[in-house]
Amino acid sequence: MEYEAVIGLETHVQLKTKSKMWCSCANAFGAPPNTNVCPVCLGMPGVLPVANAEALRLTVLTGFLLNCEIPRYAKFDRKNYFYPDSAKNYQVTQYDRPSTREGFLEFEFEGTIQRVRITRAHLEEDVGKNTHFERHSGVDFNRAGVPLLEIVSEPDLTSADQAHAYLNALTELLAKAGISDCDMEKGMVRCDVNVSVRPKGTTTLGAKIEIKNMNSFSGVRRALDFEIPRQIEAVSKGEKLRQETRRWDDLAGITAPMRSKEDAHDYRYFPDPDLLPFTPTEEWIAAIRATVPELPLARKQRLMRDFGLPAGDAEVLKSNDALADFFEKAAGGFRNPKAIANWIINNLSAQLAASGTSLADVRFSPAQLRELVELVDSGKISSRIAQEVFVDLFSTGESPSAIVERKGLAQVSDTGAIEKICDDVIAANPGPAADFRAGKVAALNFLKGQVMKLSKGKANPAVAGEILERKLQS
Ligand code: ADP
Ligand code: MG
Ligand code: ZN
Repeated sequence: MEYEAVIGLETHVQLKTKSKMWCSCANAFGAPPNTNVCPVCLGMPGVLPVANAEALRLTVLTGFLLNCEIPRYAKFDRKNYFYPDSAKNYQVTQYDRPSTREGFLEFEFEGTIQRVRITRAHLEEDVGKNTHFERHSGVDFNRAGVPLLEIVSEPDLTSADQAHAYLNALTELLAKAGISDCDMEKGMVRCDVNVSVRPKGTTTLGAKIEIKNMNSFSGVRRALDFEIPRQIEAVSKGEKLRQETRRWDDLAGITAPMRSKEDAHDYRYFPDPDLLPFTPTEEWIAAIRATVPELPLARKQRLMRDFGLPAGDAEVLKSNDALADFFEKAAGGFRNPKAIANWIINNLSAQLAASGTSLADVRFSPAQLRELVELVDSGKISSRIAQEVFVDLFSTGESPSAIVERKGLAQVSDTGAIEKICDDVIAANPGPAADFRAGKVAALNFLKGQVMKLSKGKANPAVAGEILERKLQS
């Protein structure tokens, strides 16, 4: 029998806010332990939390990005547990009334558009971080109370690679919209992986295995690459899998049991009595909806449709908004957008990287780049000379026509001047000339190259070719 994997992901991302969720402590990475703390995030008795409005805004914005419904009533609940990473002995989260629900994310995978349903994206708070030293352990509460979004997917994913692509698409979107920096190195994204297997073609879900707290996407992929065959092998042998939590051992490259359903916690969720339900106004929701940016996939599709760009070019531009904006300004209404894209993707990117400049500081305008392409398209300069003009354009910001004028780079189409050079080239290269006369057509390219070289790239190559051919055939 053939089996298929069923995967659902719970992804936690830290929101990009200045302060924490319920207090004014900084939401900052890398500070010395327990320096961004106060009585509120340390869970002292008698304190009162005050909700961070920016975190609420980012949550609703995420809801729109993920095509979710935005309930007009949401609330905060306490998830009770006893563990040193939370001084309060509970974590505030949204249990049965989350701020967003029932959306979807579309992304590209192996050449097709995939849609994964999003169950919900809800707001909660991060907890402290335990560190174990040789003789003692410590807890750093700098992270406690940092706003987190938990984005829960439906079990719609079916392979390790597809889950990896989903995570990349999700974090690209969140980073782009300013929801979260999604910096994995700083622990800003963590993921619980739920996976089961079932006979292909059936619809009943198998027993779910949850792999907790993954902090790298390649780890998620490798964990699934281990776990899926393990489960398939077990059920193929007639074993009955039981719901359990497993842990990913990155060094060994295996998952190992952590706890089974029997010792699942009872968190005793209840509404946080210190926090009001969240009942956003229509005006507030509409104002956020008005700020929803174009998603990367949508931009890629629009660049292909409106400018006729090939998928590869659109792919590069969609992941760099500044470059894509520059492209659209230069190519809007222009008949050769592909040439503009080539200059931006190849030359401009390379010059930016080499000079350590950002696009915001570039000296020339999109219109000047268009002018350069027009000079080539109209035959005023050769594409080789255009490379030279571009370097000047980049460093001086002078107009391309002015650069061509100043440096005398205009293409020579005047046959008289080119005839003279062609005569010299034929005289200096009797071998290739004879080859061509004997029928070796490729020899002409060599001779043409020599003409270009002698003219310092200014001869019109088509004119040079015609003249050479005429002279050699006479
Ligand atoms: P729990 O209540 O244990 O957290 P949920 O029903 O909330 O479980 O699901 C948590 C995550 O697990 C979701 O992403 C969901 O898509 C996924 N999931 C649920 N059941 C399965 C299953 N049988 N196989 C794979 N993933 C599953
Ligand atoms: Mg869950
Ligand atoms: Zn605090």
